[in-house]
Amino acid sequence: MSNVKIGIDVGGTTLKLGVVQNGLDIIYRDTRPSPHDAEKMAAELYDMIITAQKQFPGAPSAISTAGTIDENGCLDANQLGFEKAPVGPLLFEKLGYKIPIENDGVCALVAEHAVGSLKGCHSCLMITLGTGVGGGVIVNDKPYRGWRNVHAELGHMITHVDGKKCSCGQTGCWEAYASASALSEMAGGMAPRDVIDRVRNGEMQDIFAAWVHEVAQGLIGLCSIFYPERIAIGGGLSNAGELVVGAIRDAVLNEEAYKNYYAPLQVVQAHFQNDAGILGAAALA
Ligand SMILES: [Zn+2]
Repeated sequence: MSNVKIGIDVGGTTLKLGVVQNGLDIIYRDTRPSPHDAEKMAAELYDMIITAQKQFPGAPSAISTAGTIDENGCLDANQLGFEKAPVGPLLFEKLGYKIPIENDGVCALVAEHAVGSLKGCHSCLMITLGTGVGGGVIVNDKPYRGWRNVHAELGHMITHVDGKKCSCGQTGCWEAYASASALSEMAGGMAPRDVIDRVRNGEMQDIFAAWVHEVAQGLIGLCSIFYPERIAIGGGLSNAGELVVGAIRDAVLNEEAYKNYYAPLQVVQAHFQNDAGILGAAALA
């Protein structure tokens, strides 16, 4: 079967494999618990790939994973308890060839750019609003990368000098103010979903506006560097749709100083939630 690719999403609790046809349709799935051991992880990934390839011979594969991957395919991921875990080298040994292994934020960005909300944009960016703030930037049709191929960490851009302590160890990171967790904190510990429900009912408007302002200020900073034509908003909070996405759009576009400069900028909801890793990995296979 032509135009069929295998994408695998390695998360803290689950390994999800999907066989993707024409970049978008997932026509086969395999889900298993994530082993928290490099040897067992490589064995499980190998078995999932081989099992899928029995039905889809010759389908190329790639992996999306939490954490960071070094140039040798070794993995650092808190969620999995991995520190320089040689998952890539062990898997390549079993397969007899190398496959791409990419950070999950980059894969989500690639999926949106290839077949989702950022399709057709040459310069664009995506943020995910969840426990943290993730995302990435497409520059001239490619995910932006720094030295040694390291991907962007948008959430750890500092927006407040000597501000709140972030999980990464810095102070004043955007993530500490603009994540779903930050919204929850601003609302006295109420779950983000409940805050959104209250906002929809016309309550907690000040808290919501203050949080949207934090999100927007970070985006405006990113706009001044990258001048994107479109911004996609993803992650758990984007499920609230226009309530959240529209508020962020208004806050960015109504920024007085740059009103005309940013006028054509689009702020949209990301298309993919749970399958972003699979689709992004498949696009890289
Ligand atoms: Zn940080």
